[in-house]
Amino acid sequence: MSATPIVLGARPDPVRETGRSETPRAAVPQRLGALGDPIRDTHGRVHRDLRISLTDRCSLRCTYCMPEQGNEWLARSSILTLDEIERVARVAAADGITTFRLTGGEPLLRPDIVEVVRRLARITGPDGTPVELAMTTNGIRLPDFLPGLVEAGLRRLNISIDTLRRDRFADLTRRDRLADVLEGIAAAADSGLRPLKLNAVAMRGVNDDELVDLVAFAVAHDAQLRFIEQMPLDAGHTWDRSTMVTREEILAALSARWALTPVPGRGGAPAERWTLDDGPHTVGVIASVTAPFCGNCDRLRLTADGQLRNCLFSTTEYDLVPILRGADPSDEAIDAMLRSCIHGKLPGHAINDPSFLQPERGMNAIGG
Ligand code: SF4
Repeated sequence: MSATPIVLGARPDPVRETGRSETPRAAVPQRLGALGDPIRDTHGRVHRDLRISLTDRCSLRCTYCMPEQGNEWLARSSILTLDEIERVARVAAADGITTFRLTGGEPLLRPDIVEVVRRLARITGPDGTPVELAMTTNGIRLPDFLPGLVEAGLRRLNISIDTLRRDRFADLTRRDRLADVLEGIAAAADSGLRPLKLNAVAMRGVNDDELVDLVAFAVAHDAQLRFIEQMPLDAGHTWDRSTMVTREEILAALSARWALTPVPGRGGAPAERWTLDDGPHTVGVIASVTAPFCGNCDRLRLTADGQLRNCLFSTTEYDLVPILRGADPSDEAIDAMLRSCIHGKLPGHAINDPSFLQPERGMNAIGG
């Protein structure tokens, strides 16, 4: 499978700096491996997980993500086609990146979503094993799409829900759609897709009085609730550490209701997990700010407009469009860009560092 080693530096430079630069490009060694070789960054992390944002549009307007009027949407012509997405995914899979997570904005707003799942589910890794296909969604369109998505090859689902209260949901998302989300979660629970995960951003003075209720709700749907510490990714750049509910505070609130026992073997997974009482249900916490887990990060991202990002907080993007829409869109060229992107990865997000710069791109255009 391995072709001749890739030599970088010969190609036009589609790397866009948007702030604190990563590994100075001049220092990027000329030889980073060949198509089919695992992709390792300079901190020894082998990458296996590609998050694919299918659109920047969403049916909700969550206050910690985007303004009421929405963001300036990406031009439709800039959105990658299914053929282009599949091309990148095939090369990534050949390099051992065999977990794909479909995100947005809201991925179910993409008209060809079932076909996207079908085409990606057919891709296999270096050992011939089919890739693992997961999706993060707000759940609103799930009842309509789920049977087709499961038949097409979707295997895992994460659904976002920050509150069980209708009024609070409407305030948080600027849409009165809680009933639709609950219907989506019920459909997912009935679908048999497991593990089923529910994601909730914990916010002080907003939903921190619902932490126990949210976990109990998840248990009732045979799902795992994962709390996310609020991160500086909002379009308005108004994130304030004091409004974030920390890992410690979340665990303290839950310990009043359940005995929590750490689940070993986290690996590169974002969530730390605890069993509730004697199990089998668990709860997770994604503590990016107070307990970063970058040391085992194996993720990179493809934005809906064809930019590679080696970190959620990356301020540098690697533009695949000139390759995908250029004269000779070769697999080797895509592979080289994947390697260059991962080679430039920093050891971590630096949120707790005075030099931290919030990415320009809003969460809806990066993807979960
Ligand atoms: S912040 Fe960046 S490096 Fe850290 S875990 Fe997330 S994506 Fe990986």
